[in-house]
Parts: sequence; C-alpha cells; structure tokens
Amino acid sequence: MTSFPPPPSPPGGIADRLRQIRDRMAEAALRAGRSPEDIALVAVSKTHPADRIEAAIAAGQRCFGENRVQEAMAKFPALRARHPDLRIHLIGGLQTNKARDAVCLADTIESLDRPRLLDALAAAMDRPARRPDRTLSLLVQVNTGHEPQKSGVPRQDADAFIAACRDRLGSAVRGLMCIPPEGDDPAPHFAWLADRAARHGLAVVSMGMSGDFETAIAQGATQVRVGSALFGAR
Ligand SMILES: *Cc1c(COP(=O)(O)O)cnc(C)c1O
Repeated sequence: MTSFPPPPSPPGGIADRLRQIRDRMAEAALRAGRSPEDIALVAVSKTHPADRIEAAIAAGQRCFGENRVQEAMAKFPALRARHPDLRIHLIGGLQTNKARDAVCLADTIESLDRPRLLDALAAAMDRPARRPDRTLSLLVQVNTGHEPQKSGVPRQDADAFIAACRDRLGSAVRGLMCIPPEGDDPAPHFAWLADRAARHGLAVVSMGMSGDFETAIAQGATQVRVGSALFGAR
C-alpha cells in the first residue's frame, strides 16, 4: 500500500532557512566559546504577511520582531489568539503617540531612545491595558555610529539616559540595542554595546541582523534580529 507522507518543506522554505540560521548561530556561539542557548533569535517579520509568520511558527519559532506598531497590531492579535506563547518585539523608531499601543502589544520594546519617549512609556505602563500575566521588557537603543537621521540615544548621552530609564522604570529596563551604520565594520559597534551593557549590569544585548549576526554573536550578542535571511527580501 502506498503511503503519503507530508512533503518535506521545499529547499529554501522558511523551515529550512530557520534551521540554517539556528545552525549558524550555534556555530558562531561555539566558536566564541559561548553556549548556543544563551542567544535568542528574533525573527523580523515586518512587511511579511501572516501566512509566512505561521510557517515560521510551525517550524518552532516563537519570537518575532516588527518595526511598526500599526502593522504589528494588524497581524499579531489573531496569531497570538492561536499561539498564546508568541513573543513580540517592537524594534523600530517609536512615536510617543504610539506608546500606549506599544505597551499593550509588545513583550519587548527595543527602541527606547529619548526622554519624551521614556515619559510616554512610563505613563502607559502606569495605567496598563495589558494582560496582567505579561511582563514588558525595555531596551535602550544607542546610535553608536553618530548618524544624525537614525534612532537611538547618542553614544555620549547613553550612560545618563540608561540611568534615567532605570530610575524611572526599574528592572523593566533589561538591555541595550544598536544598528551599526551601513558600510561600517560592525564589530567595534557591537563590542562597544556589549561592554556598555556589562558596565551597567544589563543582561540583554540586542545586535546583529541578516548580514552580520555571526559577528554580533562573537562580540557578545544575547539576541539577534534576523529578517531577510529568514523570510526573504522585502
Ligand atoms: C529590519 C530590521 C532588522 C532585520 O534586518 P535584516 O537585514 O532583514 O535581517 C533588524 N533590526 C531592525 C531594527 C530592523 O529594522
């Protein structure tokens, strides 16, 4: 009798790419003398439709990154209703008028980068419309490359701003995030961020994207944010 096993996922499908990325992450960790379990993968699903996200969920991925609050609110409540263990990271520049929605939706906001946003997030967290069972983590984004048009607190203001965030929000402030300038060698940016997190006793170091996540792991990333290498070009 002929049996019909489910077809293997096509070469280059999301399940295959997820496995390849996880393998590359583990190899980079071992090369750096680190434990692969200490590095999390944030699958950056911005611009990609819910069915691609479902494919990644089916392959075991639970943590996703989006850079726009509105897009995340359009896609994730339905996904989360089916998969209550999903975790959502907001990784894009955040407007203060979106702070309340961001606090309601996200598990981690990675783009805390200025005093007015700190005020808006603190106010939103005081009157939470959140499910009480979820905690919110915040990362301070640092503009390590001094790029005027980019989000992130300037390097020279980082220490004072991190201290202000922790005074206000306490242990919700979990770590640091950066995006090195395109074209720069990312390694010194990553090294700076990991060192700064260690000096402040912050556990989470979010750095590394599709093109440089292995370098980021070598420099101490505890989470990498990978989009196009997993979901394809945007
Ligand atoms: C889009 C984005 C990523 C993912 O970039 P890829 O190069 O597609 O992996 C990571 N971090 C942030 C902040 C992003 O906006």
